[in-house]
This record gives sequence, C-alpha cells and structure tokens, in this order.
Amino acid sequence: MSPTTVVVGSSVGGVRTAQALRAAGYPGDVVLVGEEPDLPYDKPPLSKALLAGTASTQDIGLLTQQAAVDAGIRLVLGRAAIRLDVDARVVELADGERLGYDDLVIATGARARPSPWGELPGVHVLRTLDDAVALRADLLRGGPLIVIGAGFIGAEVAATARTTGVDVTIVDPAPVAMSRVLEPADAMLFGLLHERQGVATRFGYGVTGIDRTEGALRVRLADGSTLPAAAVVVGIGAVPNDGWLASSGLRIDDGVVCDRYGRAVDAPRIHAVGDVARWFHPRHDALVRVEHWTNAVEQAACVAHNITHPEDLRAHSPVEYVWSDQYDWKIQLAGRTGGSLDHVIVDGADPTRSFAVLYAGTDGRLRGAVTANWPKALVLCRRALAGGASLDDTRGAVAAATVRTTSAGVR
Ligand SMILES: Cc1cc2nc3c(=O)[nH]c(=O)nc-3n(C[C@H](O)[C@H](O)[C@H](O)COP(=O)(O)OP(=O)(O)OC[C@H]3O[C@@H](n4cnc5c(N)ncnc54)[C@H](O)[C@@H]3O)c2cc1C
Repeated sequence: MSPTTVVVGSSVGGVRTAQALRAAGYPGDVVLVGEEPDLPYDKPPLSKALLAGTASTQDIGLLTQQAAVDAGIRLVLGRAAIRLDVDARVVELADGERLGYDDLVIATGARARPSPWGELPGVHVLRTLDDAVALRADLLRGGPLIVIGAGFIGAEVAATARTTGVDVTIVDPAPVAMSRVLEPADAMLFGLLHERQGVATRFGYGVTGIDRTEGALRVRLADGSTLPAAAVVVGIGAVPNDGWLASSGLRIDDGVVCDRYGRAVDAPRIHAVGDVARWFHPRHDALVRVEHWTNAVEQAACVAHNITHPEDLRAHSPVEYVWSDQYDWKIQLAGRTGGSLDHVIVDGADPTRSFAVLYAGTDGRLRGAVTANWPKALVLCRRALAGGASLDDTRGAVAAATVRTTSAGVR
C-alpha cells in the first residue's frame, strides 16, 4: 500500500511542502488540509499590493484547483484540524472526519495577536485575506488611520495606507520603529522615512485603550492624549497556531518543538514547517521560531526531502532572510541584527536611500545585515554569513560593490 502524508495548513509552508514532496519523488498520497475555505494564497501582498488595490485575490494565489490535481495533491479546504492522535496516527477534522497518515506535516502557521483593547468595529488585525479585504474597505472610506505597532506589518500598512492618500499615525511604546530588529540609531532612519512621507509618529507612547462613540474611534495614549480614528490597525505580533495539538502529547513551547531535521521531538514521523515550527537551528545552537516567508519555503523543501529520503536526512540551517516593502523602499535583513551587536554603515550609490548596516559579534564575525534599496549588498552579506566571514572582509566586499556598480554606469 502506498504511504500517505497529511499536511495541515494550506498557506505557503503547507503548499510548498506538498509540492516539494512531489519534486523530491514522494510516491504516496498527499493530502493538504486548510481551515480557510479559499484556495491557498500568499500573505506578504496582504499588507502591500492587495491592500493598495494593485493586486487581486487571483494574483496572490499559491495553488489552483487544477495545479493541485496535476500534482496529485488532495485538497481538503474549509475544515480545521482540531485534534491529533499520535499513537493512532490520525488527524481529526472539525466535521469529524479522521485522516490517517504515515507522515504528518504541521504547517498551521501563526495568527495575529488579538487586540488587548477589545474587538470594536473599525479595529483591525492583519493576517488573513478576510482581514485585508475588511481593512481595505475601511481605508477606502478615508482616514484617519491609527496603526498601533511599528514592526514590519504596522510599518507596511502605514506605508500602503499613506500611499493611497490616507492620514496615518503610527503609535508604538518603543522609542523607534522596528525596534526588535534594528539598533536604535539605524531604526531612526526608518522612522524618518515615514515622517518624510507625511505619516505622524508617536513613538515612546503606549496605548491604554480604544473607545468607540457614535461610530467614531478614539485611541487613548499613556500620556493622557487621545487620537481620533476612522480605523485602527493593531499590529503587535503573532502567536503560533498550536492550540489544536494541546492533547497530542507533542512537546509544544511557543510552537512545535522539533529537531534539526524538522521532526517533532519524540515523534520522528511528525514534522513542522514555517511560522509554527520551533526547531533546533544548528547555526545558532538553539531552538528558534522564525516568522518569515523564505524560512517557510526553505524548511518545506528540507522536510519534504527528509520524508522522501529518510536515509539521507538534511538539517535545516538557513541564514535567516526577510524583506519589507515600504513606499518605494525595499528593506532586506539577513541573519541576526539589532540588539547589542556592534555595527557599521556602508553607503550605497545614493547614501540618502541606499545603504547597508552590518552587524558583528564580539569575535568580529558578521552576524547579520540590513540593507535599504541595495539587493546586491544583501546577497553579498547573505553569502558572507553562510561562509562565516568577518565584518571587515564583508565591509570591504560591500563597499567594493558600490564602486563597481557606479563605475559600470548602472546608476
Ligand atoms: C500581512 C503580512 C505580510 C507579510 N509580509 C512579509 C514579507 O514582506 N516578508 C516576509 O519574509 N514575510 C512576510 N510575512 C510573513 C510570512 O507571510 C509568513 O512567514 C508565512 O506566511 C508563514 O507561512 P506558514 O505557512 O508557516 O503559516 P501561515 O501563513 O500562517 O499559514 C498557516 C495556514 O494554516 C491554516 N491553519 C491554521 N490552523 C489550522 C488548523 N487547525 N487546521 C487547518 N488549517 C489551519 C491557516 O488558516 C493558514 O492558512 C507577512 C505576513 C503577513 C501576515
């Protein structure tokens, strides 16, 4: 009898796992389960082109019905997995169906951290297509929009809304934007980017509440001031969708705990990929969970290989990578950035908008990099990180890239 792999979660981690199983030559049945009724779609455009109205739902699709048939992937959509019986090797769905498996891939991702200030009409989070459609409808009615949280999602929503002409204010208790991933002086540059586009910023102020009276919203800040709003976006992070595994006996600790091969500890034929996976990262010698698109794609390929070729296990040991599009800026990060790491800035061809910030550990090795509008520098840094290069060597290589680009007359 041919084996069966059940993949639970039908966004990029799940879809890419199902496709990579076929690419790796997996001979068995592949079943892809998703709780949302929509065909699988991609998340990054939800805060960018889809919210701006320059991309449609079709444009952001990850898998069509026909592509699933062609690849031999059985789609089970609109039904959540609610329980896992590890001993019986069965996933139970919300409608009572029980799916048996030989291998299971958990790709249930994360959900937006809910608003601690209540779920009022006009107060949004942004994680799903429905969220994006509802937010866009409110933006089309005009502002002002208050964005709570200046992380990636908040900064992107602010940029997209501003680009469509809405008055926007970003509020964050941290003193600067993107404070979790950038050193404060560098983060200031990105705060300025928003201010120059006409976005008001209230950094350093916490939110104490949101009120709604006669259809109008008011966001209350810790300094006693209030901000009127037509709509509010609460972008304060995400939490892994691991609640359905509570009775399974799997080790859950802010995600499904896995080994370096993406296998759940103590259950080697259960795997996790993407935002829900907390796996042992050999490069960091620690358990990590990463909420970035590229990680989900790369981990999916790794796990699909390991399921198909268990005699040739591969560890998932990526150099982390994430991009963010804000206005006409492309911001890219690789490896570990921010915090207490030493850093240097290398200017690109136009230092007012293209530069690289390189971060190093106390041993002088490159630990991470942030680039603005300079993809070539990011590629060099990612390669340097993979090869364990020093900060000095990387700085030299990146600086040389500026000279070469300029002298070639590209800019
Ligand atoms: C608005 C937005 C913008 C982003 N922009 C970027 C970006 O610019 N760059 C970048 O690197 N990353 C970005 N990300 C992050 C990136 O999209 C995620 O890292 C990626 O989607 C993770 O994929 P995943 O498949 O692991 O999880 P998810 O995308 O969270 O998908 C999980 C899927 O599982 C389903 N599911 C959950 N529970 C169950 C259940 N019990 N049963 C069945 N199905 C279930 C969910 O409905 C969902 O479809 C963005 C994310 C968002 C929300």
